[in-house]
Order: sequence, then structure tokens, then C-alpha cells
Amino acid sequence: MSVETKIEALRETLRHHEYLYYVEDAPEVEDADYDALMNELKALEAAHPELVTTDSPTQRVGGRPKEGFAKVAHSRPMLSLDNAYNETELRAWSDRVHAALREGETVEFVCELKLDGLSLALHYGPGTDGSSLLQRGLTRGDGTTGEDVTTNVRTIRSVPLSISAAKLKKAGIPQAFEVRGEVVMPQKAFQKMNEEALAAGLPVKANPRNAAAGTIRTLEPNIVAQRRLDFYAYFLLQNGEMLLTGQQETLDALKAAGFRVNLHGASVKSIEEVLAFIAGAETQRDTLGYEIDGVVIKVNSTAQQARLGFTGKAPRWAIAYKFPARAGLTQLKDVGFQVGRTGKLTPVARLAPVFIGGTTVSNATLHNADEILRLGVKIGDWVQVERGGDVIPKIVKVDENHPRGTQEIVFPTHCPVCGEPVVREEGEVDWRCVNASCPARLREELRHFASRGVMNIEGLGDALVAQLLGQAEIEPEEGAEEETVAAPVKREALVHSVADLYTLTMDQLLTLERIGQKSAQTLLEEIEKSRRNPLWRVLLGLGIRHVGERTAQLLAEEFASRGQDYEAMQALMDASEEELQRVNEIGPIVAAAIHEFFRGEKNRQLVERLHELGFSFTAEKRQKTSQLEGMTFVLTGTLPTLKREDAKTMIESAGGKVSGSVSKKTTYVVAGEEAGSKLDKANELGVKVIDEAGLLQMLG
Ligand code: AMP
Ligand code: ZN
Repeated sequence: MSVETKIEALRETLRHHEYLYYVEDAPEVEDADYDALMNELKALEAAHPELVTTDSPTQRVGGRPKEGFAKVAHSRPMLSLDNAYNETELRAWSDRVHAALREGETVEFVCELKLDGLSLALHYGPGTDGSSLLQRGLTRGDGTTGEDVTTNVRTIRSVPLSISAAKLKKAGIPQAFEVRGEVVMPQKAFQKMNEEALAAGLPVKANPRNAAAGTIRTLEPNIVAQRRLDFYAYFLLQNGEMLLTGQQETLDALKAAGFRVNLHGASVKSIEEVLAFIAGAETQRDTLGYEIDGVVIKVNSTAQQARLGFTGKAPRWAIAYKFPARAGLTQLKDVGFQVGRTGKLTPVARLAPVFIGGTTVSNATLHNADEILRLGVKIGDWVQVERGGDVIPKIVKVDENHPRGTQEIVFPTHCPVCGEPVVREEGEVDWRCVNASCPARLREELRHFASRGVMNIEGLGDALVAQLLGQAEIEPEEGAEEETVAAPVKREALVHSVADLYTLTMDQLLTLERIGQKSAQTLLEEIEKSRRNPLWRVLLGLGIRHVGERTAQLLAEEFASRGQDYEAMQALMDASEEELQRVNEIGPIVAAAIHEFFRGEKNRQLVERLHELGFSFTAEKRQKTSQLEGMTFVLTGTLPTLKREDAKTMIESAGGKVSGSVSKKTTYVVAGEEAGSKLDKANELGVKVIDEAGLLQMLG
């Protein structure tokens, strides 16, 4: 088998498994098997970069958009929908539809769940061999013009990067078309994202929709790739017109083409059936795994849609039936303050218990001091509390009739856990306890460090962590963004930093409650074993802001080529911001956070101590191949970030050649802004043209 055939076969297999996993939710292989195939493909592509195509499953994460997102006009406006809040309004809509059509004309409706995300328009164009390629992904923007978020859209696994000619044929779709649909963040992914945000000391998002919206507009595609977003397709257009004759047909065609289509839709013939569908959807609402806020009802026939037309801002042929908000009115009784791993103080509202959407809510987050000001809330006020699927209940509004005797919410001047003064740094909204040995902070640090995804020290659970710190354990509170610790009981702490775990003795452990000889022994072995964890886990364990699993892995991989194990760690500690930014996929925010972290003397000392304690910091070296061996490049135009000289040096040090003129022998023309005749020549000769991002991608 030739390398090309092998690569194409691997891609097909991977696409198939991605489809099963991300579109059908029915994987056929273990994650590890999928990873193995992916690694095989990556290795082959690294050895044959000339065979890399933009629709390869390895190419989901690409270069970062440098100057924010370009604005692009929509082929036809992305409108919002009119709303109906009850049966009467729904029937009134249906009456208007019938009145606008001929008397006695039958109307079919398609009911779909109203996914609570944000809409996207995906443009596909002709690829090779009759296939289609994803060319562009746009947000709704102001409805007329959207933002080009293609690099981020490419990371969504349920968005096909290419569609084969066979699939297009089966679906009855031409090579050039536009798909519109909704991008959502599943509740699980949302929780994970917020947990990671907390672990990295970052603000949490209020709901999955905000999280999805924030994610799709993130300027660092690797961050987008780490978060799971799903795309559900529901419209199919060509040149701004509906392509097929009906909505149901559209959904079927989209599905046949390999898009994810929401399976909870139904074609119905009467408003009675619509109402039954709505009732069913409401009962399913909590078990879907993603948020919905209603049902969208569309007139099925494209011809009828065209006759019904649009009002100023919405189509007359569709309506959104909105579920009642899951909110309730209750009284704010008190406000507590919790201290997280980064020392952040979070105000938590203590509420008179209220029943909202199936559960009793007695706590809600108030986020921070600014939020309290914004709401203008005082203790004793009546407040509107909202709750979504798995989301932390939130106070959204304060009743204007303030009862008599309300009290100002006062932020504590001292940490409720350690008693040290709290500070609020300039430009920051949060008050923090900056006492590095605050038991609240230390406890969260240890829990993070020991957790499965980090240093994976089995047996070092919350109860034990509390005991090691000389504290009594308490249950985390419902409604808290960060978990709390009770005031410490007077008992001597055995551990004052994560490093102290590594000097614990059997005798010490046996002084603790509820731990026997045997489990103490196992724990010591687990701790011992964790010294040999790979570098990336240690990095993750340090709890650097913005450094999640993937970033830690990228860093470890990159710095492994600068030295062996601890040397790699040292090189990382000494790296400048510029150096860090040059690491694949790492942007300025992340680079600054890492740099800042290692400027801290305490942090450096901790790493040194871990080294003395026998940490191996094992880093696996990335294979350095001459990626561009045998290729000739021609540079033309102004590249967005690289000076021409730099681009030349980079190409040459990767084994490639740079030539001044385009010929048949040219492998790639790298074109920037205002590229001139060389670009024309390339097109004439059929030489492949790439942009700076394409070049950087090849250089890895
Ligand atoms: P609204 O923003 O409340 O006016 O509702 C209109 C929005 O609902 C659209 O812009 C879409 O983003 C979204 N939406 C969610 N699910 C669907 C669906 N199945 N069909 C059409 N639009 C939907
Ligand atoms: Zn404190």
C-alpha cells in the first residue's frame, strides 16, 4: 500500500469513528484505539507534510486568528424568531398562518427542540473528487453580518470538515451549500469547563449558552478544542435560498450528509399535535444532557414559507414556543463568604427555601462584589432566583419594593477562614485572601494536586486532606462556586504544602482518625509512585492559571526538546513570554500567566523542593524531523506576523528551500497581503498556495 493510500484509509476510518462518537453518540471503538489511529496518522503526516490536507482529522486545531474575527455578510439575514408563551398565542400564530394561505389549504408543521445555544452559518464549497469542504463558519452577529469563526468551528467534532461525493449524492446536496444550526455546550462539558476554571482560578460561566458563546469567540483555538461543543444542523441553503422543498426533507438530507440533527423533532399536521409535542418536550427537558428553552415550530413546505414571508425581524412561518423560565421569588436571609483555591472570596446568598423546577433551592451564588452592586441587593430583599439544568442557582433580579429594615451586604475585611486581611487588587473584581498558607486555599490546592486527572494519588480524598491540614472536614455547600472549609480545629497540621506530602511517615499517618496500617501503607506507596508522574501532570498540579491538561502536555512536549527531565522543567521556568508564545497553540494570555507564575520565588522554590524530593519530571521528547525536507517555497506579499526573513529562516531550519521565483518545481507559494504576480503565476501553474497559518501548521 502506498503512503498516500494508507493516509487516506486512516482518515476515512477516523472520520467514521468521529461520526459515530460525535454525531451518533454510538462509538464502536475504545478511546485508546481511536487515539492510536490518530497517532499513526499524525506520524505519517509528520513524515509526509506534503500530503496533509485541510480536511484531515488531524487538522481541527489550526492557527490563531490574529486580529480578532473578520466581519462577513450573511447570504440571507439570520433572523430571530417570534415567541409564543402559551397555547393562546400559539393558536393565534397558527390562525395567522392559515389566514395568509388559501382557504382549506393544508399545513404541515415540523416541531424541533429550541436548543439554547447560538446559531452558526457554515459554508461548504467544492473539494476534490466531487466532495465538499468546510470553508467558513460565521456567527449570527447582528443578523446581517456575522463574525468569521472558522478556526474555532473546525474544532467542533460534529461539524464535518469534508463530505464525500457519495454522501452528498445520497443526501441530494450539491457541492456548494450553506448549513445553519445551533452550537451548544452539553451540560457535562459545561460542568467540566467550570470545574477546570475553578481549578485554574478563573471565573465560571453562568450557563451553557454563555459558555458556548464565549468559547466560539475565543481567540485561542486550542482552548476551543478542549471544550466540547456540539453543532445541530437545521437549515440548508444555497445562495441564501432554501435548497429543498420542505423542512422535514432538509433535516433528513442533513442527517444523510453526516450532520448532527436533533432527533427529537417531529412532523405533525395540527396544532393539537404541536401542543402534545411541547408537553412531551417539557417532560424530557432535564434528561437531554443539553439545555433547551422551548420548541420551534416551522411550517414544513418551502413554498408556503415563501408565500408567508417575513416580518421585519422574524419569519412568519416559524414560531418559538418558550418554556416558562425556571425561576422563583424568595427572600434573601443572609450572605456567607467562601474561600477557594486561589483565595477568592465568593459571596453566597442564603435564601428562604424555594421550590424551582423540581428542586428546593436555598443557596445561590452572588459571584462577586460588583454583582451585588449591579443587582443593588440587600439582606431582607425579595429576589428572583433562576435555575437552569445543572446550573448554580443565580439571583437575577431584586424586587423593587424593598421591605423595611434591609441591611447592606458587607464584604468581610478579613478571611473568614484564616482571619488574615483580604485584598482587592487594582482592576480586579474579586477580593482575595492572599495568605499563601490559608487553610482554605491549601486544602483546595491539595485536593486539586491529588485528584485523578492531575497527580492521581489514590486514597488521598477530601476527608484525609482535611485531616492532614488539621481541620475537621465539612460538606461542600450547595450553590457554592468554590467549596469551603470550616474554621480549623486546633490540631497540628502535618502538611503545609504539597511538597510535605512526600515526607509523610507511617507514624504520622497513624495519628490520624479512621486510617489503619494497611491503608496508610497503600497511601504512602501511592504518594511515592506519584513522584514518577510525567512532567505534564506535575505542571498541571502546580495549578498555574490557564494551564489545563492539554496546555500542560504541549508545554511538556515542547520543553522536552530543550533538555532532559528536570532540565526541561528549568527551561520552562526560565522561558520568556515570547518563547512561551512560540509554543504551538499557546497564546499571549496563557504565556503571560505561565511567565508570571514562575516569577514567583515561592513557586520556584516549590519546584526545586519537588526535585530534591526525587520527582522525575519525565518529559517525552517530540521527534524532531526535518518536516520540510525536499520542498521548495516561494514567499510573496506581506505575511500577517512573520517578517519575510524570519519565515525564510524557519523554512530552512526545517529542511526546506526558499526560492525567489515560482516554477513547476515550487512545492508551495506562501502568500500574504497584497501578493502580486507570483501568486498569479502559482495559480497559472497549479502550484499550491498557502497562507502564513498554513506554513506555521506545517512547521508544527
Ligand atoms: P431568539 O434568539 O429567542 O429570538 O430565538 C431565535 C433563535 O433560536 C435562533 O436564532 C436560533 O439560534 C435558535 N434556535 C434554537 N433551536 C432552533 C431550531 N430548532 N430552529 C431554529 N432556530 C433555533
Ligand atoms: Zn484565608
